Amino acid sequence: MYNKINDNTEAIPSQGPLFGLTLPELTDLIKRLNQPAYRGKQLHEALYRQRVASLDEISTLPADLRDRLKAEGYTIGLPEIVQTARSIDGTERYLIRMADGETVETVWMPDGDGGERGDGSQAAEEEEKEEQENNSNAAEQNPAPFPYRRSTICVSSQVGCAVNCQFCLTAKLGIRRNLTAGEIAGQVAAVLNRHQVALSSSRGNPNPARINLVFMGMGEPFLNYANFIAAVRLLTQMPIPESRMTVSTSGILPGILDFAKETIRPKLAVSLNASNDEVRESIMPITRKWNIAALLEALATIPLRNREWITFEYVLLGGINDSLQHADELIALVRNMRCKINLIVWNSGPNMPFHEPPQSGVSAFQKRIMAAGIPAYIRRPRGRDIYAACGQLKRTVEQPPQLVELTPA
Ligand code: SAH
Ligand code: SF4
Repeated sequence: MYNKINDNTEAIPSQGPLFGLTLPELTDLIKRLNQPAYRGKQLHEALYRQRVASLDEISTLPADLRDRLKAEGYTIGLPEIVQTARSIDGTERYLIRMADGETVETVWMPDGDGGERGDGSQAAEEEEKEEQENNSNAAEQNPAPFPYRRSTICVSSQVGCAVNCQFCLTAKLGIRRNLTAGEIAGQVAAVLNRHQVALSSSRGNPNPARINLVFMGMGEPFLNYANFIAAVRLLTQMPIPESRMTVSTSGILPGILDFAKETIRPKLAVSLNASNDEVRESIMPITRKWNIAALLEALATIPLRNREWITFEYVLLGGINDSLQHADELIALVRNMRCKINLIVWNSGPNMPFHEPPQSGVSAFQKRIMAAGIPAYIRRPRGRDIYAACGQLKRTVEQPPQLVELTPA
């Protein structure tokens, strides 16, 4: 089930999308066209810093080189936003089309996803403080050119998903294919372009936007590990620091072991969702392959950085995993780990045999965990009215909810 996928770094393609190639790859490609190596760097800048949508926009390259690239069959190849729905809470959901016509969903959540850095941490507060200390004057004098000071983008890693969690709508699609590194990072570029977000001060913006990324859209990132991690590296070039990224896995052990060895890596969230193997097996069949004990053992191999925590996501399913006894079991499991718990109230989907727990039960569950000294947060659902909340990313075309249709920017 765990496939290592080539990350396109072995051979330089002789045509096709340039977005997704690394600096050494672009430099090789340029040299193959008998051009000086610095043109590779210019191409790299145009792709990842300027996020150009067409070769014609690359004003640093001479026109004959741009023509040559076109004639050879190269394109920029950014995925395209083909459908947009906006929620009353400001969340926007996009259907994004890849070159072969496959589509995934990507979500834009202005102001983070509930006062958090996308991972249930209290990072928003820390950021506020940081901003106040370092930046407040600059921010007042030079307001950001886009209306959000902070925003989180939820990114997909596969078309569909093979993991088959019983409570998840994406699972109903099955797995269609892995996304390439360029397609994963390209979702972010497409969404940033739509909102005209300036990321770095090198673009002449003294108050760059704070963008957080969560790899929590469609798919299981650790079943597409090489492309996922290659995408992280591309995204750091934009630049979005990896400290502002969080990846969520359902608990793919070989992926976790590889992740533990990375020097440049996002923070980790793990979808635990149950406090014992029996319950977990019934809602996440992957538990039969890797049980909770094995999962926790693998997580212990990750060298946590300063002030880093592992986040355990726990989708609360009424009557299944939401009793105080479950809370106590959960506490016993994670007691000795540097972690926090992100409670997610189940988002309903059509024809699914679950129900939301009552609000009082959710609070009691949270209080019980906090009383044991473990930080626990309740993730505020975003974009429920447009099916953009967790686990609701199923293609609009197949399951049309009430949408506000907008034309792509
Ligand atoms: N495949 C990865 C990342 C995408 S799912 C993973 O499973 O971790 C992101 C989060 O959404 C996971 O924690 C998952 O448990 C949760 N989720 C899935 N379906 C949901 C639903 N219907 N309601 C609430 N959360 C859901
Ligand atoms: Fe896949 Fe995550 Fe949904 Fe499970 S919860 S089916 S791993 S996307």
